[in-house]
Amino acid sequence: MKDLARRVWLVTFSALVIFVLYEVIKTVLFPHISVITSHIITVIVVSVITFFVSRYAFGRYSGAVTEIQRQTAITEETNRLLGGVLATMREAVVIVNSQMRVVLYNNAAARVFKLPPANAGKPGARLAGFEATTAGSTINRNADITVRSLPEQATQSAGAADSTRGYRLTDATRDPAINRAFSRVLGDRTPVELRIEMADRNGRSFQLNVAPLGSELAVGVFFDITELERLERVRREFFANLSHELRTPLTAILACSETLLAGAMEDPANRTRFIETLYKNATRMTELISDISDLSAIESGQFELTLKPVRLRPIVVDVIALLESRRADADITFSASIPDDVFVLADRTRLEQILYNLIDNAVKFNRPGGSVTVTTERKEGLVAISVSDTGIGIEAADLPRVFERLYRGDKSRSRKTAGTGLGLAIVKHLVRAHGGEVSAGSGPRGGASFKFTMPATEQPVESAR
Ligand code: ATP
Ligand code: MG
Repeated sequence: MKDLARRVWLVTFSALVIFVLYEVIKTVLFPHISVITSHIITVIVVSVITFFVSRYAFGRYSGAVTEIQRQTAITEETNRLLGGVLATMREAVVIVNSQMRVVLYNNAAARVFKLPPANAGKPGARLAGFEATTAGSTINRNADITVRSLPEQATQSAGAADSTRGYRLTDATRDPAINRAFSRVLGDRTPVELRIEMADRNGRSFQLNVAPLGSELAVGVFFDITELERLERVRREFFANLSHELRTPLTAILACSETLLAGAMEDPANRTRFIETLYKNATRMTELISDISDLSAIESGQFELTLKPVRLRPIVVDVIALLESRRADADITFSASIPDDVFVLADRTRLEQILYNLIDNAVKFNRPGGSVTVTTERKEGLVAISVSDTGIGIEAADLPRVFERLYRGDKSRSRKTAGTGLGLAIVKHLVRAHGGEVSAGSGPRGGASFKFTMPATEQPVESAR
């Protein structure tokens, strides 16, 4: 702009000089020219000079205006894209300035910290509390993206800015580790990485990466690693449980075979007992391995469901019949109140497997004289099937974990009930494969209650019995 003004002045001055020279030449060379002719020539000369000066000056000016408009459009587009990217990020992003004030954050950060929703008045990320010093600062120099807080943006988000202007990082979070990390990066200008656990966010854990941004800002990205850590723990426990589950029957097999080899073979009275123990433990290992391979096939989706409309009642009756001898031994009563016209869209064999596992548990973890109840409820295109018992129940701490592979609650371990803890993991995957959900809770009369949903269907199919 300065360059343009200088050029306009130069051209105007040159035009003035040309005009004065013209007047001098005209007076000296044509002293007797009439006043009217002189005025006509003057008007023509002035018009020509004005035309060229204006063309030059305005041509340049409109070029500069177009350039400014182009730059503004690029900046606005960059802001919009950056806002969109930040808004869709699952990671919380917070940018603070040298006074530890929050200047930009996204929706995810608003959910993690005590900050107003980031999209109030803006599409995604919110520019907050910009002040004269930060206005116009380059936020991302490395990536060659320049985000500037334009004056009109500051005005637009004035409502929001009122509440966020002067928002300090300590207002958003009191966590000393987070505040220390940002101030260290602002001081040393070197990146910092740390793991934090937020007590005020139900102990969720985050991997925090803080890095310097430009000359006076610091950006912090919070990755929620709670689920990753949970999966890692489940994996570790799975292998620990697996080796425990395999070691127990293996130890028994080794001990029995050693005893037999050491002479028990010659003792007919004990020989049969040892061979029975060998058989029982080998069977247990085979069952365990077949359950694990069944589960891994189900988990990796390497199985096919043959979905057909099936009548629920006869399936429950069949499963109850399979468990009859176990029920009688445990002195438990069964009751199933399922209307005859309840149909679900399911793979019959897999549905039987789900019900078998749930009713088997309800018998296994019951008390003598207890009961098992199966009920159904229809709602919104689904059939909810509940299996409740009056048994030992499930500790609140175990409830979220009973569907994990090889997980067995403390109560069931202390009862020394047979089982590997794979039944419910299989149930969970089979129910999900049918498009349903399964949950565990307390039964209406103590004990435990499991509820799962299956897609309802109206079509009666006689082959379903
Ligand atoms: P498996 O089914 O592989 O033979 P399991 O019955 O021990 O072994 P799951 O069916 O997966 O394993 O159940 C996991 C754990 O959940 C059980 O060990 C038990 O602690 C708890 N649980 C399941 N059902 C009940 C129930 N009806 N009442 C009380 N606890 C239960
Ligand atoms: Mg079970």
